[in-house]
Amino acid sequence: MRLGITEFIDCAHFLPGHPKCGQIHGHTYKIEVIIEGEASGGMVVDFNELKAQTREVLAQYDHRNWNDVLPFPSVENICELLSRQLKQRISFPLLIRVWEGNGKWAEM
Ligand SMILES: [Zn+2]
Repeated sequence: MRLGITEFIDCAHFLPGHPKCGQIHGHTYKIEVIIEGEASGGMVVDFNELKAQTREVLAQYDHRNWNDVLPFPSVENICELLSRQLKQRISFPLLIRVWEGNGKWAEM
């Protein structure tokens, strides 16, 4: 069974050398985390636990500038960074999808 949560953070970024995105600007990032596991005893995992782990990772970046942590903070690179950090905390197989505003996302 799959279980998912959705969280939001607001961040600034710019993409060095990009004609449009080279200017500093901001996005609301929507982060979806989907895990897979057995619903033993009626639960795969407690939503509170999943949300707490995800929020701890995201809190490091909320209302910050991605360029302070990533040289080229594309949604692909942000997705990779968050995936790596979530996997250190969450033991289930997981999928992460990061939305950069509306209509654009990366997942892995
Ligand atoms: Zn942007």
